[in-house]
Amino acid sequence: MTLRLFNTLTGQLDDLVPSDGKTLRMYACGPTIYDYGHIGNFRTFLQVDVLRRFLKLTGVAVHHVMNITDVDDKIIRNATAAGVPIGEYTARYEKAFFEDLDALGVERPEEIPHATEHIPQMVKLVQRLAAAGAAYQTEDGSWYFRLASFPEYGKLSKKDLSGMEDGARVDVDEYEKDSARDFALWKAAKPGETSWDTPIGRGRPGWHIECSTMAMEYLGESFDLHAGGEDLIFPHHENEIAQSESVTHKPFARHWMHVRFLLVDGRKMSKSQGNFYTLRDLLLKGFKASSIRLALISVPYRHQLNFTFEGLTEATSAIERLRTFKQRLTAGTFAPGANPALQEAAKKAQAEYLAALSNDLNTAEARAPIFDLLRAGNAAIDQGQLLADDRDAILAVLASFDAVFDVIEDRDAEITRRALDYAEQSGRLDDVSPELVASQSLTDEAIDALVAERTQAKKQRNFARADQIRNELAEKGVVIEDSKDGVHWKRK
Ligand SMILES: [Zn+2]
Repeated sequence: MTLRLFNTLTGQLDDLVPSDGKTLRMYACGPTIYDYGHIGNFRTFLQVDVLRRFLKLTGVAVHHVMNITDVDDKIIRNATAAGVPIGEYTARYEKAFFEDLDALGVERPEEIPHATEHIPQMVKLVQRLAAAGAAYQTEDGSWYFRLASFPEYGKLSKKDLSGMEDGARVDVDEYEKDSARDFALWKAAKPGETSWDTPIGRGRPGWHIECSTMAMEYLGESFDLHAGGEDLIFPHHENEIAQSESVTHKPFARHWMHVRFLLVDGRKMSKSQGNFYTLRDLLLKGFKASSIRLALISVPYRHQLNFTFEGLTEATSAIERLRTFKQRLTAGTFAPGANPALQEAAKKAQAEYLAALSNDLNTAEARAPIFDLLRAGNAAIDQGQLLADDRDAILAVLASFDAVFDVIEDRDAEITRRALDYAEQSGRLDDVSPELVASQSLTDEAIDALVAERTQAKKQRNFARADQIRNELAEKGVVIEDSKDGVHWKRK
């Protein structure tokens, strides 16, 4: 099964296949570790995770590189304000970033290079650019890319840059289209800033040179796929292409994938609008990591996602249904044999699921056949028509769904506990929702004991006590479910 994926460079759906026939070599721009990640950042990392998981599910090996930007304008500004060296400043946010990725079930890329550990390679690339006539040094010692030397500039973003003024320069890492000018490759040291002594002078790298350097270091001069958020198309990715192709004269990345921005409550997310959320903000409000993952991946990557709390609640109930269904299948006892209708339903669900994902990673369409199968399976169990082979066939489809979506396997309680630890350590206990505090006030052992006491009370026909325990647990966010195969409980 070949993935058809939209390619920003060609403007159409192209087959995504490894050019060496074996391993798909891909680069995805990583985080700038100057603060906690917000849900917009994580939507991009999650959609790239969907891509790599789908490739692996369909038998394509992946070599995935994600950089860590640990030096740039924002980091230097914040570290200076905090009065600490940049390494100390970024270490804290890098740790937080990986904790957040783990909470969201994002798989680790094969390589995670740091910008500050590749300074000599960046310097070498600047030297090669200078030798090719594509870079020049200014009086203050900084190095700039000469846009006029690369006529293809703009081919990714499809921007018309003809009005550009030759020789005009911009030295900030992030800028708008109007600033399409010669951009900084290497910034001469300024007093008080972190800098490196190198053959091209004392200074620090610009942001764009970092990705060109590390992508080529780990994946070669030409590789299969480059991914990132849509905000990176211009100038960052355009600049990466210019820097790389000016020295290699080979296509840098063949395929470019860009994840669209999300809106929150229909508006652009911003601190001033009061609709800005880090992952941690949502966990402290009592939302589960699995719900956040599902909500952020259920709208396909090329569509704008409107993130709302209702959407999160919908994701929570979808996951509950899946988990309950799987529980019924694994805990139940089924007669031997196969029901042809269910065998057919499982086969159809699997085929439709894979077809939807192979069509530009359509996660929304991929969900539908899984829930159709869930409904058919539940109905068959209710009517005693689900047999042992059907259970196995359906569990295999659920496993294939979870290989990409990764929400059925329940890791939420542990993640919630860690979020509460974070709240305590960082003085954010006031931000924790009262429901969450209540549900965490009971240990698993205490709940087990109460559930056992309730079962005993029911046996002794002491229904008043049994109801009392059920209500007590419900108030603390613990739900009891009685079923044929025993009593189960879960935290809401
Ligand atoms: Zn990048």
